[in-house]
Amino acid sequence: MLGGYTGKVLNIDLTTGNIEIEKYPDRMLRKYLGASGIAAKILYDRTDENTDPLGPENHLIYMTGPFTGTRVPSSGRHEITAKSPLTGIFGEGDVGGTWGVNLKRAGYDGIIIHGKAEKPVYILVEEGQVSILDGEHLWGLDTIEVDEKLKETHGPKTVTSCIGPAGEKQVLIASIMHDGKDARAVGRAGLGAVMGSKNLKAIAVIGSGKVDVADEEGLKECLKKSLPKIIANTQSLKQLGTAGGAVMAEKWGDIPVKNWSRGDWESIKNISGEKMAKTILKKRYFCGSCPIGCGRDIEIKEGPYKGVSGAGPEYETIGLLGSNCMVDDLEAIAYANELCNRLGIDSISTGSAIAFAMELYERGIIDERDTDGVKLDWGNGEAMIEMVKKIGSKEGIGELLGKGVKRASEEIGGIAPEFAVHVKGLELPAHDPRAMSSLAVGYATSNRGACHLHAGGFYFEKGVTMPELGYTEMQDRLSSEGKGQLTFHSQNIMCILDSLKLCKMLLFGKVTLTEIVEWIKYTIGWDDFTVEELLMAGERIFNLQRLYNVEYCSISRKDDVLPPRILSQPRLDRGTGDYLPPLGKMLYEYYQIRGWTMEGIPSEEKIKELDLDDRHVPLI
Ligand code: SF4
Repeated sequence: MLGGYTGKVLNIDLTTGNIEIEKYPDRMLRKYLGASGIAAKILYDRTDENTDPLGPENHLIYMTGPFTGTRVPSSGRHEITAKSPLTGIFGEGDVGGTWGVNLKRAGYDGIIIHGKAEKPVYILVEEGQVSILDGEHLWGLDTIEVDEKLKETHGPKTVTSCIGPAGEKQVLIASIMHDGKDARAVGRAGLGAVMGSKNLKAIAVIGSGKVDVADEEGLKECLKKSLPKIIANTQSLKQLGTAGGAVMAEKWGDIPVKNWSRGDWESIKNISGEKMAKTILKKRYFCGSCPIGCGRDIEIKEGPYKGVSGAGPEYETIGLLGSNCMVDDLEAIAYANELCNRLGIDSISTGSAIAFAMELYERGIIDERDTDGVKLDWGNGEAMIEMVKKIGSKEGIGELLGKGVKRASEEIGGIAPEFAVHVKGLELPAHDPRAMSSLAVGYATSNRGACHLHAGGFYFEKGVTMPELGYTEMQDRLSSEGKGQLTFHSQNIMCILDSLKLCKMLLFGKVTLTEIVEWIKYTIGWDDFTVEELLMAGERIFNLQRLYNVEYCSISRKDDVLPPRILSQPRLDRGTGDYLPPLGKMLYEYYQIRGWTMEGIPSEEKIKELDLDDRHVPLI
């Protein structure tokens, strides 16, 4: 029997209440690795072009990887996958915390949910026992209240994954939150709305078993070499969290300012990781098996936001709710972040939608009659907070903004779409392709829309190396040379990390592919596994997701684009000058390296090479 996997996945039909256990052949696990890869295959098998993302036929797939729940560093993670109601294409999110670890310890690799419950329910997985329980008393509660209530009912060891009021109301940028006040989010692509559409409020897990690996002692010995290196190379993440990157990002022109319309913004120092460390930081937070601990646990002890506590804002939240709205009040951002977590909305899409609305307000396209009297001026922290409340509650203009900037701009009409910054309907995260050129082709082609975590090339432009692929030094961030190739490699690596379940922060810890293959051998027991096979698996998973988008969602080159503002308006700041990324040139190189046609379609030869010509044969 393979190590790492429990070998059991729950299949729950909420319409009938039927619960079954699925087991996948070993060769399929080797082909798709786990988490993101296996979930993509299940979504490919069981949904299609006729699937309404908010219909009972959509599948909401929770999946761990073979490393989840083991001692492999930074592996306490799981993936949630579904057809996205925000973008209408492949949707997924990777998340840390302890929920996935507990699911594995309860004896399951994943949970596939489909159908729709007649009334609100929650699922309880307790040490192998599974039940669907009445959730009406939870409906209407925010995500932290749900966590507290379920801990009261099932005991303090209960770990939750749940939606807030936004998910219930099927707000298209609704998130799925985990671990209560520690607030780990599957934020992107509106998967909280999918959960809400199924009348599923929460999944509570309690697990205390052990995840068996092929060679526990061997793994322990092997990690003795890796851990000191990881810890030594991630000291700034430990000390300042991801928000520690904000000051450098502003200097490089990477962080968005004023709805992506300008550069240099001195006020970044007021909302940086350094500022957080000196003011509201209480302690660090660690996801399962993580030696880094980049999470921030904060507490505001006085002032208008007194009482805010728990998970502090990450870099992305600082960038979108902060600099992109020109709000330089760290405590206001921390409060808005807590509201996003409680209501269950993605802080990236929310910040982007508010900045978009602020620009429309400045230009006179909307006014106070549209905003219920809120003065949506740049830098107005109270107005930003009001908008978060409106979006999360689907009230007033919040109902429109909660549809994401693409749909909102189309409904407003006129020139509004010019100010909507998204790719394939997913708002850009807080990294600018005008500062990190690989992100141009990375955002344009990533399978869930604009996503730095899927693109990954910018890590190498920030100094990450990967000797097996020839990346031994920092890549030139303002050059398009070789960025098609870099994006090809980094997207495949992201698929590997998301499938085995490894945090991307390990890249800053200088973890190599060779080390990951060693961890696979000791964890799963595949003694003949190689770096080449690992890379092939990553490429296969990426292509399967692309084929989902091509075959079921009509995605092609016409959709591999960037917002006009990013393509044609330089930031003119000290970090980027007048640089604009030449997307067409990079895309040409990228399609060639991917083995896709110039229309962005995987070629038959490539499909065969990746052993995807049998993709229509179901997993089981
Ligand atoms: S580095 Fe941060 S996000 Fe990654 S696993 Fe550790 S605590 Fe979680």
